[in-house]
Amino acid sequence: MKVTADYHTHTIYSHGKGTIRDNVVAAINKGLKRIVIADHGPGHLTYGVSRKGLKKMRQEIDALKEEFKDIEILLGVEANIINLNGDLDVDDDVLKTIDILLAGFHNGAMFSTLKDWNEIFIKNKISRMLPIWRDECRINNTIAVVKALRKYNIAILTHPGAKMDIDTREVAKVAAETDTLLEINSSHGFLNVDYVKIAMKEKVKFVINSDAHKPSDVGNVDNGIAIALRAGLPFDRIVNIEE
Ligand SMILES: [Zn+2]
Ligand SMILES: [Zn+2]
Repeated sequence: MKVTADYHTHTIYSHGKGTIRDNVVAAINKGLKRIVIADHGPGHLTYGVSRKGLKKMRQEIDALKEEFKDIEILLGVEANIINLNGDLDVDDDVLKTIDILLAGFHNGAMFSTLKDWNEIFIKNKISRMLPIWRDECRINNTIAVVKALRKYNIAILTHPGAKMDIDTREVAKVAAETDTLLEINSSHGFLNVDYVKIAMKEKVKFVINSDAHKPSDVGNVDNGIAIALRAGLPFDRIVNIEE
């Protein structure tokens, strides 16, 4: 069993420890054929990549592609869901600059309106501690994800279920239709074993990523592989694992 690609790694452009080059070199040393640099979307309050930063990333990656021919290097962004309508913190300019779009829920996102702050940030936070609004949050979170999947060309939904509770079966069904991969995130442990078991009932495909925040973690997906094995997920349904 071998990991062939890591579609989710962070660099100093958000809150990672290494440069793009550091991540690429680490990926080559691990024998990966493809690496995605996916820092946080511009709407993340503390770690969001700036517009200028994203342009610089593009130039850096284009130069590295000339230098390293044995690995495919892609520029992505891990966009934030910022409202109940499923909008992301990326505009056309950002989408034109990147090669691949990842998206997920993050507590540190700059939500669109006071209502979105309340419905997504506050109610979800409280419902994790107290048994109120849980059903309501789950429904609203699921609707937001489904709308995002239908509105944008999202290649990978990152760590589903890690930050906000969702209806995994419903999200998996729509992700199968929109050709979006569900991530088993080795850092967060989501999808977890139970969620993989539910999601695999739909025809959706999966990807196991490191979500590395330092170069030494690039390609470290043992935790994700363990989740897939425990869930009984066939490896031909995971795009970046070779048996
Ligand atoms: Zn994330
Ligand atoms: Zn991440």
